Amino acid sequence: MTQSAQRTPMDLSRMAKRVHPIGESIFSEMSRLAVEHQAVNLSQGFPDFPTPDWLKEAAQEAIGRNINQYAMSQGSLRLRKAVARKAERLMGIAWDDTREITVTNGATEAIFDVIQALVNPGDEVIVFEPFYDSYVPSVEIAGGTARYITLQAPDWTFDRDRLAALFNDRTRAIIINTPHNPTGKVFTQEEMDFIASLCHKHEVLAITDEVYEHLVFDGNKHIYMASLPGMRDRTVTISSASKTFSVTGWKAGYVLAAPDLTEALRRVHQFVTFCSAAPLQEAVAIAIENAETNSYYADLQRDYAARLEKLSGALERAGLRPIRPQGTFFIMSDIRGLGFADDVAFARYMATEVGVACIPPSAFYSSSNEGTMLARWCFAKRDDTLAAAEERLLGWRK
Ligand code: PMP
Ligand code: GLN
Repeated sequence: MTQSAQRTPMDLSRMAKRVHPIGESIFSEMSRLAVEHQAVNLSQGFPDFPTPDWLKEAAQEAIGRNINQYAMSQGSLRLRKAVARKAERLMGIAWDDTREITVTNGATEAIFDVIQALVNPGDEVIVFEPFYDSYVPSVEIAGGTARYITLQAPDWTFDRDRLAALFNDRTRAIIINTPHNPTGKVFTQEEMDFIASLCHKHEVLAITDEVYEHLVFDGNKHIYMASLPGMRDRTVTISSASKTFSVTGWKAGYVLAAPDLTEALRRVHQFVTFCSAAPLQEAVAIAIENAETNSYYADLQRDYAARLEKLSGALERAGLRPIRPQGTFFIMSDIRGLGFADDVAFARYMATEVGVACIPPSAFYSSSNEGTMLARWCFAKRDDTLAAAEERLLGWRK
């Protein structure tokens, strides 16, 4: 539970029991603290630079062209076709845009819908920790139980025997987020092959969260689980336009999965939101179509690699020991020896006294205390934002 949820005791008696354990998201809490204290906000992961003009114009034109009524529940045909073509090129396998692709309100809705659609009460779902914060509530609302395997700092490897031992008769799915938030880990071919072999052996589904698929650095390569031998049918691939096109507020996500899994997901999706914003679907379709024919993804990587250098240099100079990420737009740093009781105390102090907000990663762990000596910093920021953060960090260290 987050600090603010603890701070404000609330009468739970009129709330359904399934929501009792849910606290406020750490992202809302830290962004609020950043605003309250006018801190440079390197906490919640979103770009503070503008969405490209051509993409904003595509959305405005879509509204002008009267694409303003409900889209098809499964997503507009143009967007599903664009996703299918892109996925075919990147994964090397064909997708049926009619029966295998669904558009959702961001990856967040996709994660929720997929889990409600595929996990029965009593099922177990294996989750790597630290984890993105929506996985566990989604599993618990479905009546499932999360089982945890820890990625160990600083290289974020995991104990293969421990992972193998988590698979049992009740295991329904494993969630793999690569590139991984918050560690920046990009799962290697070998690790993906190992996870795939366990999925085959125990007939378990792989749910992959690939929203950072285009943010990989230093020659690391994003591996699509669905592209591994025999995994196309067992994998539910989730991605989103949020990070790739700098439109986190558009909530434009999508899912690729075999027809029966897609059918299950669509049954949930139609009653959660029915469809996502029609003109934004049109604009995202255009964005994906264009990116197939120009250097958009390479340019994005180049720009983010430069931002990574800026923030990691700043953290280094401030003695905050960055752990170099292989992907995503986050850096974890080691806060041991700085005199703070834990990551929450550190993050509060940084936001309120130093004026730079970060995320305390213990929010992304179940019960292990592995996160308590780490901090997560977002570099999806303008140069002047990163420079302002550095100035404040260096001022504090003096
Ligand atoms: N998964 C991960 C790992 C994320 O970091 C995020 C945050 N944006 C999401 C899913 C949610 O993506 P969306 O904005 O498309 O809902
Ligand atoms: N994905 C973003 C992060 O990790 C936050 C998304 C959200 O606020 N729900 O910071």
